[in-house]
Amino acid sequence: MSNATPTIFALSSGRPPAAIAVVRISGPRAGAALAALTGRVGVPRTARLTRVRDPASGETIDRGLALWFPGPHSETGEDTAELQLHGGRAVIAATLAALGQIEGLRLAEPGEFTRRAFENGRLDLTRVEGLADLIFADTQAQRRQAVRQLGGLLGSHAEGWRTRLIEALALVEARIDFSDEADVTEDLVTAALEAAGRLREDIHRALADGGRGERLRDGLVVAIAGPPNAGKSSLLNRVAKRDAAIVSPYAGTTRDVIAVQLDLAGYPLTLLDTAGIRASTDPIEQEGVRRARAGAAGADLVLWVVDFSDKDALTIYDTVDTAASTPRWLIRNKIDLVAAKDDHQKSEISMIDHRAFSLSAKTGAGLDALLAALTDFARDHLESSEPVLITRARHRRALEETEAALVRAQAEGTTDREDLIAEELRLAARALGRLTGRIDVENVLDVVFRDFCIGK
Ligand code: GDP
Repeated sequence: MSNATPTIFALSSGRPPAAIAVVRISGPRAGAALAALTGRVGVPRTARLTRVRDPASGETIDRGLALWFPGPHSETGEDTAELQLHGGRAVIAATLAALGQIEGLRLAEPGEFTRRAFENGRLDLTRVEGLADLIFADTQAQRRQAVRQLGGLLGSHAEGWRTRLIEALALVEARIDFSDEADVTEDLVTAALEAAGRLREDIHRALADGGRGERLRDGLVVAIAGPPNAGKSSLLNRVAKRDAAIVSPYAGTTRDVIAVQLDLAGYPLTLLDTAGIRASTDPIEQEGVRRARAGAAGADLVLWVVDFSDKDALTIYDTVDTAASTPRWLIRNKIDLVAAKDDHQKSEISMIDHRAFSLSAKTGAGLDALLAALTDFARDHLESSEPVLITRARHRRALEETEAALVRAQAEGTTDREDLIAEELRLAARALGRLTGRIDVENVLDVVFRDFCIGK
């Protein structure tokens, strides 16, 4: 990169005050900036204890560690410096102000360090996304998936597929260019189409993953639904072990959908507490009911809670519209109010319930069985024996486009139109290139980098 490239700096560690703050500098003037603040650049990749001074006044700001990573073997591919300081607000403010005074330096924009790493070929787009996922991973299963993506699981597959496609394309183009020559036969096209067919199968297999990777990133959604006063909010609070939803003895007071993020043995799950679903004339409550229906409709699982001590509870059973395929578990709540001999509600599990649980949100009895079942449900829906390649809708779109172009290429194979076969293979290669960012990059870049924080 030329000297016209601005040198960027930012606080890369978390919100101050903290024990340590990490300030990073990247760009052609990183070495000069490091020398201005600490007296010299130092030995590459070796920590050095140093005084950090304001170059303008000469005043000592702090003592800390300085590190120097000359490009191109640095994270961004550029000359990079790192200061590890005490994480106080005033220390950080003085250091950033001193860096800002140096000619050619400016504060980094969100994601700019990583964007430079991408532009300098240090990371492809799928690895950039893996890095973002690692930073935002809440659970261990999400972390494992992000580490695989950052390690290039999808990126290296995509590169391998693209190489195979380009080889197939070369065969078709050889046939087109040298069709007059006797020893260049139609076998070239047959070989290219066979290769395209094998590739299509591989991509098809990657696509047939049940959406596990995307779901693991987002977390499963479980909606708690049921008639008013059945104990939905109480159940949510029990499960979340904190007061996330308002528990009230009056019907219709939980007017909004309240979400709680859970970590069940490493699997992320969002629990939605829906408003009491019932006919209402109050406009605010009607809105709550509308959201409850929408939340339940989009959920991966519905927990239908009923008051087990209420004879009429099961009669309003069918008033929620969930997708027919959404599994539904019956939760018979308030078993503490039902005497063992009182079996008026010992109803059979309805046809649309897949399982039933009896519990008390008040005492916690029976809750462990429900949590164990939820953990198994999450594992079944998010885990697979082989690591999934696709972790974002963007990946799926690119691979679907690739597959569609390969299908069209094979269809052209029956028509003798070698130019059209070549064109479809080129489109397939371009879709794969978009996945890693090798071509047609600009339009996807903003989408990928906008989730990043400053200093990353
Ligand atoms: P929601 O309208 O379905 O969200 O119901 P709430 O969670 O607000 O509960 C309604 C009432 O039932 C409140 O007074 C709760 O304290 C009570 N309640 C909830 N669960 C239980 C339970 O398991 N046993 C008993 N005895 N009361 C419960």
